[in-house]
Amino acid sequence: MKDTTVDKTACAAFGCPCAATASNGGSNWFCTYHLGTEASSWQRITQELRRLEWLILICRGIRVCYGTERWEKAFKQIQHDIRAHQRSDLLFVKETDVNAQQWLRRLEGVIDNAARGVQQPQLPVMPQRQAAHDPVQRVQFDLPQHA
Ligand SMILES: [Zn+2]
Repeated sequence: MKDTTVDKTACAAFGCPCAATASNGGSNWFCTYHLGTEASSWQRITQELRRLEWLILICRGIRVCYGTERWEKAFKQIQHDIRAHQRSDLLFVKETDVNAQQWLRRLEGVIDNAARGVQQPQLPVMPQRQAAHDPVQRVQFDLPQHA
């Protein structure tokens, strides 16, 4: 008895690292990033998701740990992981993210944009946020406009 065709825990797109969350109406189940997309773009989407797999794991960690006694430890680990991937623009910023839910939404937005093929700007839309974390860039932004 082998039934490998119906695995409702994994996304049906080949190689996708995400869990399936919804069906396309047929027998296949997909993650939120593959659901409703053209099969011709699946490979590109999967590539992006694999590239951002560390961030997907972080989002999962926030969802699982936030509000539990594990959160404090998990939060420290997450901040560490984000720095290790040189994405300090994704660190939790109390002033703008306010709480973990909104922060999670921001992180998921990054994955979402990548899966949709939206080009990420090299610098965040609000450069001052980056500058707060990066003294070198702050110096650059502080150069007079008319220099
Ligand atoms: Zn998928």
